[in-house]
Amino acid sequence: MIKMKKVSKWFGQHQVLNDIDLSLSKGEVVVICGPSGSGKSTLIRTINRLESIQGGRIEVDGDDIYASHLNVNSLRQKIGFVFQQFNLFPHMTVLDNVMFGLVNIQKRSKKESMERARSLLDRVGLLEKINAYPGALSGGQQQRVAIARALAQQPPVMLFDEPTSALDPEMVGEVLQVMKGLAKEGMTMVCVTHEMGFAREVADRVVFMDAGQIQEIADPETFFTSPQHPRAQRFLSDVH
Ligand code: ADP
Ligand code: MG
Repeated sequence: MIKMKKVSKWFGQHQVLNDIDLSLSKGEVVVICGPSGSGKSTLIRTINRLESIQGGRIEVDGDDIYASHLNVNSLRQKIGFVFQQFNLFPHMTVLDNVMFGLVNIQKRSKKESMERARSLLDRVGLLEKINAYPGALSGGQQQRVAIARALAQQPPVMLFDEPTSALDPEMVGEVLQVMKGLAKEGMTMVCVTHEMGFAREVADRVVFMDAGQIQEIADPETFFTSPQHPRAQRFLSDVH
């Protein structure tokens, strides 16, 4: 579903991704962790073509996503992206936020869009908030709306960049719960997160990044009980 081959990226003279090789099959969940500045956000953003790359190749669901003829908008229909900051439209209700892409990008009827948006909001536990504005919701609720909005286009792949790091601790669980549900339903997911409990429970593989490189890839059991790379060992003792 996702195939990254020797992906490299520079910001000016600074190489932030160095020969990244990473592939996910359909239904696989990969958690990316590593110290701040190691290139996690840049990596995940390249999968959605939010960054240019200077070397290598990325395929998503069979498309070479940096091919010059590729339509970026249709690519982004295939990939749901959830950011640390929820980026909801503040002047629209929760329902309208979720309906927006269905009506305006996918050109679906109002009725169909509303039905789908309602069912997604039900799925993330927010049916009673459909007429609220984002400003009236907690951070955890806003992030669940953002997930529902990303799911609206029925993407085969979901990317999460530290979706719980801007939340108060008591709201982290409700967002992770929604993500766990998605994973169990077979969504292909790349999640940058420091929630190691989530990684242990849900990830098929854990990727540890440092200095723009993948230093270690392992199944969670192996990664958490016997990390091989000294920097991964240090990272794990810091986050625990
Ligand atoms: P992480 O998400 O692991 O904290 P990032 O991918 O955000 O790391 O950043 C990796 C490196 O790239 C950092 O050194 C950061 O300063 C640099 N960087 C990120 N975005 C930009 C940018 N737009 N311009 C220049 N440097 C950037
Ligand atoms: Mg980041």
